[in-house]
Amino acid sequence: MYDRIYNFSAGPATMPVEVLEEIRDELLNYRGSGMSVMEMSHRSKVFQEIYDQAEANLRKLMAIPHNYKVLFIQGGATLQFSMLPMNLMPHGAAEYIVTGGWSKKAFTEAKKFGDVRCIATSEDRNYAYIPDCTDLPIRPEADYLYICENETIHGTTYPALPNTKGKILISDQSSMFLSKPCNVADYGVIYGGVQKNVGPAGMAIVIIREDLIRSDLDPRTPVYLRYDTHAGAGSMYNTPNCWAIYVCGKVFQYLLNNGGLEAMHRRNQEKAQVLYDFLDNSAMFHGTVDKGFRSLMNVPFVTGSKELDGEVIAYTKAAGFDNLKGHKSVGGLRASIYNAMPKAGVEALVQCLKQFEQERG
Ligand SMILES: *Cc1c(COP(=O)(O)O)cnc(C)c1O
Repeated sequence: MYDRIYNFSAGPATMPVEVLEEIRDELLNYRGSGMSVMEMSHRSKVFQEIYDQAEANLRKLMAIPHNYKVLFIQGGATLQFSMLPMNLMPHGAAEYIVTGGWSKKAFTEAKKFGDVRCIATSEDRNYAYIPDCTDLPIRPEADYLYICENETIHGTTYPALPNTKGKILISDQSSMFLSKPCNVADYGVIYGGVQKNVGPAGMAIVIIREDLIRSDLDPRTPVYLRYDTHAGAGSMYNTPNCWAIYVCGKVFQYLLNNGGLEAMHRRNQEKAQVLYDFLDNSAMFHGTVDKGFRSLMNVPFVTGSKELDGEVIAYTKAAGFDNLKGHKSVGGLRASIYNAMPKAGVEALVQCLKQFEQERG
């Protein structure tokens, strides 16, 4: 139906068809309002209901404790690389774990704002693993410990959260947000750009413990870059990304209707297993990440030959599988298999790769 193909894009990424159909049905006239959601005032009652329902459903999905605020902020995940150190470093010090392209960007940005150090990294082997985080050299004066919990480009995830030695943990969950249950109370801040696993691009969701939202910031801090601005205005200090909030709300509802995060996790494990089993048994293809640190969401793999990688990408594309080209810092291929990618899509991809291997092996 609809001539859709299997889209393995890392983001913006595939969405559940059921959600797209609902949006289509409501596009010209949202539930009798006589207008599209993209034409509505963000101050209207009908939009406030959309907003409130989205937040309530996200709270339910993740069982977010009452002492955490949920903020919808524009600027994607990248703006949070700056907002976090601007707002959460009262002592001017923080520790970062650098496990790939995204945590490296966050670390580089944070260094502009204080005494920020990288206390563990896997850069020595192009981020193919997660370093041991059981006994890190965390300074007493550090305000927080920062991680990127799923590295979208390098395809790693943490087998267990780091020992923070009592410091607050900040996690970039962009490419794993809502892919499995998450104990929010383990974190000071969880955030993610929504275009990986949830909705359209251009917005981040920030889940932040209330006592971390400070008002005694440098008075030159731009008003839009202060969490207290957003928290004090219900994420509507200015016009929010109404469309993204609406679509994310649809996805939250869809996830609740389909068994919640436990069910998603089971599905995601089964899906990833299909691909990793194939890679572990193939003579031509192999995954680039050490076992034990493999992401359930982003699966980079290579043949070992740049030329052959290029041929595989062309072959799979001709067979109806798109956006499999790996990021240039890893090379090869990458299959992003977020919540909305059906198991059938992964099975079909594996069939196609097997066929290529048979023809060329
Ligand atoms: C995509 C991504 C980002 C950047 O997101 P933008 O919305 O483009 O700013 C940051 N962190 C991770 C882990 C990502 O996957």
